[in-house]
Amino acid sequence: VANPITLVGGGLAGLFLASELITRGHHVLLYDQPSPNSGSPVAAGLFNVITGAKPSLTWRAPELVAELNAAFAHGPLSDLAALLYRVPILRMLDSVEAVNDWSSYPSPDAAEFSIHVNDPLAWRGIRPHQGVLRLEGLGWLDAQAFLPAATAALSATSQFTRIDHAYPGDATGPVVYCEGIGINANPLYRGRKLQPLAGDVLHIRLPIELQQLLGPHVLVGGGYLVPRPDGTALLGSTYLPGVMPHQPTAEARASLLATLARWLPHLHTEQVEVLDHWVGIRATTPDRRPLLGRLPDANSWFMNGLGTKGVLHAPLLARWLADALETGELNWPPEVDMFRRALQPRI
Ligand SMILES: Cc1cc2nc3c(=O)[nH]c(=O)nc-3n(C[C@H](O)[C@H](O)[C@H](O)COP(=O)(O)OP(=O)(O)OC[C@H]3O[C@@H](n4cnc5c(N)ncnc54)[C@H](O)[C@@H]3O)c2cc1C
Repeated sequence: VANPITLVGGGLAGLFLASELITRGHHVLLYDQPSPNSGSPVAAGLFNVITGAKPSLTWRAPELVAELNAAFAHGPLSDLAALLYRVPILRMLDSVEAVNDWSSYPSPDAAEFSIHVNDPLAWRGIRPHQGVLRLEGLGWLDAQAFLPAATAALSATSQFTRIDHAYPGDATGPVVYCEGIGINANPLYRGRKLQPLAGDVLHIRLPIELQQLLGPHVLVGGGYLVPRPDGTALLGSTYLPGVMPHQPTAEARASLLATLARWLPHLHTEQVEVLDHWVGIRATTPDRRPLLGRLPDANSWFMNGLGTKGVLHAPLLARWLADALETGELNWPPEVDMFRRALQPRI
């Protein structure tokens, strides 16, 4: 067997990349040293293509969604397709202008998702401030179930070895660093430090009548509520730039519950059972694009900066990185390149 490809980090980046490489016939050795502030274990796993204030799709949305779907259609992750919940996402529109802007926005052609404005089916007692946008074909990945299940599915291939330990720096073949915010402590990475964006999430249980009212619908707009099949839900998130490490705070909990009360005005927040309070850190770049890079020695590679969209970014980045590892040619788009201007260290 040729030298395995070594991956450092077993979050969404490392696992999607491992799956892509294994599908292509490579052997993978993955090191992961869990950290209390990783992003993946607390992610709500949403894959949503409308996240900004203005009517537009997020960067490369159709391609990202198609690649996520493809990652579960074949290869080691195909048995985990049930962890990808395709459910309607309801986005609250809180101004007349927003409703008007969206009303003239065309649903994208030939994409694996669609957009409907003020569809009367979209809300059933949930308060849309002025209107509501319903997104179909999107949803959420159960990240908490995915991380161990993907590790098990990859291990079942015999091309995958995982070591729960910090990477000792001894590989002779290619090494891909997928370290999340840990990149800032990696001496090989000389670019501008990634910005930690800390987030709090509450794992909650809503009263049964509200569970029935919501069904599987995800609510977004200044936060998110993701109902899970077991009757619990994830309520998120705070976005705290520059905070690291991050501990749960009472203030964050109160602000998340206040968001929920805005959406569901009949809810008394004391009816919400808070089961757990999670925190994590997203590694973000100044221009919000992820990063791929190869150091000049050709054996050290980086996949990082997944930001708030790890689920959408990881599969497409994994394909681009695997292509480059195989061909030696860096054909990924310039906007994700690690040596782009936005990632030059500040002098
Ligand atoms: C509160 C919150 C909510 C979120 N919600 C969503 C969402 O709804 N949808 C979405 O798409 N994204 C969401 N995200 C973002 C998503 O979690 C991240 O984009 C994604 O998890 C990043 O994955 P990663 O693999 O790059 O990093 P991480 O998940 O941080 O994984 C990196 C791993 O590498 C390990 N590591 C680092 N250095 C070393 C080393 N030297 N040796 C060994 N191991 C090492 C770390 O311990 C960690 O396990 C959310 C994030 C947060 C914090």
